[in-house]
Amino acid sequence: MKRVKLLLAGALFSVGLMGLSTGCFNRTAQGNIYVKQEKTKSSDHKDATKADSSKKSHKSSIAVSSSSQTSQSSSSESSTSVSSHISSQASATSTVVVTPPPTISVQSGTNHIASANSYAYSAATVHTEMTGTPTTINHKVVFLTFDDGVNTSMTPRVLSVLQKYGVHATFFIVGNTINPTTAPVLRQEYDSGHGIAIHSFTHQYHFNAPGNSGAALQEYQQTLAAMKNVLGANFDSKVWRYPGGHMSWRGLADSDAKLNAQGITWMDWNAAVGDALGSSGPKTAQAMLQYHAASITAFPQSNVEVVLIHDAVGKELSLAILPQIIQYYQQRQYQFGILS
Ligand SMILES: [Zn+2]
Repeated sequence: MKRVKLLLAGALFSVGLMGLSTGCFNRTAQGNIYVKQEKTKSSDHKDATKADSSKKSHKSSIAVSSSSQTSQSSSSESSTSVSSHISSQASATSTVVVTPPPTISVQSGTNHIASANSYAYSAATVHTEMTGTPTTINHKVVFLTFDDGVNTSMTPRVLSVLQKYGVHATFFIVGNTINPTTAPVLRQEYDSGHGIAIHSFTHQYHFNAPGNSGAALQEYQQTLAAMKNVLGANFDSKVWRYPGGHMSWRGLADSDAKLNAQGITWMDWNAAVGDALGSSGPKTAQAMLQYHAASITAFPQSNVEVVLIHDAVGKELSLAILPQIIQYYQQRQYQFGILS
């Protein structure tokens, strides 16, 4: 029902419903879903984004040779803007340990540092608020969410913009992007007061395949383990986003139940910049800003806006309009929150 409502509400979009519900890939019709599933069972992720294709070599996560990661560090800005360091050099068997600065106050059992408490919101509450159901959130809050990182080319630049404007966001990390080269960037996200959330380990679209209801929890746990290796054993995150978004799929009830039993909340969005639509998406900054403003009207009115943006490799237009997205909400007196 939710999908149908959104379709009707989103009639002003030439790209229609899938334009809104497409989180991280392109799809032209719901009927393609099964085709997608079949494809993603193979090792060739033809449907994945450019970022995903660049991640294929990192499936072994942190237990990879540092020499195999050099392509990820081609951007010189990546390392210069990272304050942390890797204390143990990567090898085929080593564990990534990135030492936090002494000024950071780690908060056990959460996905953010202690100083972020004042703007951290329960994902479950935000989830409810997004439906238009009144919650304890009685003022306007925007949650900028960045999917498909972490990487060394886009993520540090997104972090720089957020820092410049003094706002915070939530990063939905794909577990297989975490490796010795990207670990300092993940550390920087965390140390800078942003929220760290989980966007699967493989970014495959197989979570609603028959008999596969355990995959979401399994990939959640796999990614959390990779995060703990970088951020410490006390780090935890109970915030999950399905690849493509929950709204794009049917048959996730069993997966949802398994996540919920562990206290994990799945999180979609109710605003987007259209940066995962490929050839059917906005191609100019102005078009992307218009898309964003229009997307808000396609969802139930609430006190929260959860904005889908991508910090995947190549999302240059998203980065270019980020200041204007931030200003859009600042001008409307939104608080900037993180999901916890
Ligand atoms: Zn994604």
